[in-house]
Amino acid sequence: MKKFSFLIITIICSVLAYCQSYSYAREIVRQLTDSSTCGRGYVKQGDKKAAAIIEKELYNNSFRKNDNFTISNKQFTYQPFNISINNIDSIFLAFGHKDSVKREGYDYIVYGFSPNCDIELKNEKCLIFNNKDKLLNYNKQKLENKVIIFNQNILSYREISLFLRELDKLLILPKLVIIQGYEKLQYPISTSLFSFPTLCLSGEIMKTNKINYLHLKVFSTYYKKYETQNIWAIIPGTEYKDSCFIIMSHYDHLGMCGSAIFPGASDNASGVAVTLDLVRYYANNPQKYSMVFLFCSGEEIGLFGSKFASENPLFDLNKVKFLLNLDMCGTGSDGISVVNGKNIPDKSKILTDINDSVQAFTNIRIKDNACNSDHCPFIEKNVPAFFIYTEGKEDLEYHTVYDKEEVLPLTKHIDLCNLIKDYFKTLQFNLKNSTSNPTDTIILKNIRY
Ligand SMILES: [Zn+2]
Repeated sequence: MKKFSFLIITIICSVLAYCQSYSYAREIVRQLTDSSTCGRGYVKQGDKKAAAIIEKELYNNSFRKNDNFTISNKQFTYQPFNISINNIDSIFLAFGHKDSVKREGYDYIVYGFSPNCDIELKNEKCLIFNNKDKLLNYNKQKLENKVIIFNQNILSYREISLFLRELDKLLILPKLVIIQGYEKLQYPISTSLFSFPTLCLSGEIMKTNKINYLHLKVFSTYYKKYETQNIWAIIPGTEYKDSCFIIMSHYDHLGMCGSAIFPGASDNASGVAVTLDLVRYYANNPQKYSMVFLFCSGEEIGLFGSKFASENPLFDLNKVKFLLNLDMCGTGSDGISVVNGKNIPDKSKILTDINDSVQAFTNIRIKDNACNSDHCPFIEKNVPAFFIYTEGKEDLEYHTVYDKEEVLPLTKHIDLCNLIKDYFKTLQFNLKNSTSNPTDTIILKNIRY
């Protein structure tokens, strides 16, 4: 009977912990994507509002703020750094006729590099390009003071950026660049200020080379030096304080373009939710090695936070046994991808062995390195690292105004947290027994909920 009631209590506790973990992650995503954080960009200091949410969670887990960060106490600190940014403060577009005012973020946005402008066009003849070669080979000098229109599908995002950058470099000033044909608009945030505006339109494609009416207003502010910040937190190890594991995720997103907010539930409130859930776990279950948590800003504008952190680490990076970067973790029905897994096969094998044993994910894709998130600057500093993201068609929102908490499924949040806990536990065990053959991995599992 005693045994039986113990079993019942264990089951109840597990179910409670399971529900708690999921609702905790959802609450973190809700807070980070709330309109008050302004899309966690640099308009209205959204980055600082998001950082305050992380700070509050660290306090809730009994971390102390300490600006003289040491590896010996449970603490956190802000690491400020400067970026250049052009904030789009407000925009207005009437298109077709004077009263046809368009919706920001849904019908149109402007590129983040757009300068202040007030452009009114009536019966304006435009240059329409429906062909990539024609656009790229066109005598660029002839684009001066013209309205240029092309479809988004003739050039990749990178090619569009290169083309526009070249015009700006050559001091060619089109009156306006319009890129049309988007299904959903993704905001191209920018650290630069160009001399001409670029307008992106969703929906129906214009075929005539005449605009009857267009009125575009942009108010933007360029900051050569805007101070944003990373947050470092540490839970000292019980045995090996001066060696550590890092779990990191970026908390910044695209912010706002005018009044359009880009909430970034998937990218990357989901990864921060996993990291904070792990902070909660490790705060109550200190490990033999120190556990470091790094929340980076400036990722979306070009991995600026992680570059700064890797160049100005708060301790010797040689002490880092392994780093895990989490970015876009809101799905998982189709498994996970492990970027840089191919380059450290012994570490990948441990992960796939654990997964084979616990059946957390249907599929683990071990991939080459790609410099597409915050792990990359650390790999360049020789820190062994993975970047894990979840895969699944249950949510495909990316960089749009639709990437909201309501549509983020968090399908495998708990399985991912458990897999990471098992993984770090196993890595620590293998370090301690480093003479044993790493291919004979002993898989250590936490109590699973
Ligand atoms: Zn991201």
